[in-house]
Amino acid sequence: MSKEELKGKYGKNCNRTSCQRPQATWYNFGSYSYYCESCALMLNEENNRESMRLLGHSLCVEVRQ
Ligand SMILES: [Zn+2]
Repeated sequence: MSKEELKGKYGKNCNRTSCQRPQATWYNFGSYSYYCESCALMLNEENNRESMRLLGHSLCVEVRQ
């Protein structure tokens, strides 16, 4: 699979272009893609107020399958 195919998919690479870490298991309800834990927590921090208002929960949520 190409890098583009792995990007932002569950269990594959983090959706952030500058990150691309493997094992992305955090779903982002804004971009509909998966992120690694450190990016997800950073995004949650940055968007906390707005996502609580719009979604009623954090922007990124860990998905266990
Ligand atoms: Zn990341």
